[in-house]
Amino acid sequence: MPFGDVTHNPAATVEGSSIPLVDVVVASCVIRFGLDGELEWGRLDGRGLRVAAEELQRAISALQHHQRRVLRLVEERRAYEAVGSRDAADWAAGQLGISRHSASEQIDLDRKLAELPHLADKAAAGELSAEQVKPAVELAADTIHGDDGEEAPAGDGGVAERDRRLAQDAPSMSVATLRRRAARRRRPAAKDHAEARRVRNFESWTAGQELRFRGSLPLDDGARLLKAIERQMPDRDGTTTPGQRHADGLLALASATIAADADPDRATVVVIAELAAICDDDPAATAELETGQPLATDTARRLVCDSRLSVLVQDRDGRAVGLGTTARTVTPALRRALVVRDGHCRFGDCTSRRFLHAHHIAHWPAPTVMSNLALVCYTHHHALHEGGWHLTGDPFHELVAVHPDGRHSPPNHPHHHDHTDRPPDHPAREPALFADTG
Ligand SMILES: [Zn+2]
Ligand SMILES: [Zn+2]
Repeated sequence: MPFGDVTHNPAATVEGSSIPLVDVVVASCVIRFGLDGELEWGRLDGRGLRVAAEELQRAISALQHHQRRVLRLVEERRAYEAVGSRDAADWAAGQLGISRHSASEQIDLDRKLAELPHLADKAAAGELSAEQVKPAVELAADTIHGDDGEEAPAGDGGVAERDRRLAQDAPSMSVATLRRRAARRRRPAAKDHAEARRVRNFESWTAGQELRFRGSLPLDDGARLLKAIERQMPDRDGTTTPGQRHADGLLALASATIAADADPDRATVVVIAELAAICDDDPAATAELETGQPLATDTARRLVCDSRLSVLVQDRDGRAVGLGTTARTVTPALRRALVVRDGHCRFGDCTSRRFLHAHHIAHWPAPTVMSNLALVCYTHHHALHEGGWHLTGDPFHELVAVHPDGRHSPPNHPHHHDHTDRPPDHPAREPALFADTG
């Protein structure tokens, strides 16, 4: 008996259950034949294979409709709460192996289908695939643009009429055609752009050591923002997520803008730190942003390395004893010399050449000179300050990154080995900076 001749048994139920779901009966037949091992797809002739593919698609389409319905019920009845998920999409992403985006989209689609009974019937019967349902629902729904004459001819009876008409036509229309028509229908008007621009927004707030933000831009401006971030993003390295790399790109964009600002005084981020926090790692000493948020002292010491930030160092009584960048700034000439010598990040076997920071191998009050500086990438600059690592060796020859727990990196050599390149170290200005503090 060829597969296509299988007749559906209306009394059939999902195995292990007594729920007589008519729409699932289609699927249960297919699943039974698929599982009992007697049906070998390869023995079917051409017609049998075509029918089998159609039957399977109908079953899958019907099951997807039921899945949308069940996911929406999980959402509406908050069935995700008992297992500690934030919402149904979050739960689905963790348990069903589908993306949050897809789960939210399915829930949203089922909500819309609740208003479109004819399309919903076709979807439940497996006559509309998941790919057809989405554009069909868009075509049937009311949209904010009423100016599309092609899709809203005279005599268009509104949503109910479009639902009825599409339930008839859509099952035999290709996904491509449905999508094309839906795209024409949602063609945005000038007023939509104006609205997107009116609601543009950016807001930020802090939570612990995090700056969080959210916002909205018109699509075209948003595309420019994304392009700028992507141009600054570090390369894929197998350990960072796309989200982390986008965040790094945004930060690099901001750093480059601040570095290029013609008015450095106003473009500088100020950190206020107690002297003991910078020099002695005194656990009682504090450091904070000028806006008042506290920072880890390790973080403050990393910022002292970074000439794009200004560190105001205070004594215990709050008297300013120095401004970090006046002495810590790696001048453009010194930086060029470092780039020629190091060429890349000097931490272990890292070869990154992008977004290099000049790190002070021995921290303040050691001088800002070639023999005390090494270029390191953003990630490794964090490892050196917040991660507990430090560099040992001579930056003109060989540097090794060492961790207190005994780990150490492979040796790292400068790009330029020629020892005659070593310039005379100029005496540091730092000691003079703090001299008048007593
Ligand atoms: Zn550093
Ligand atoms: Zn590195």
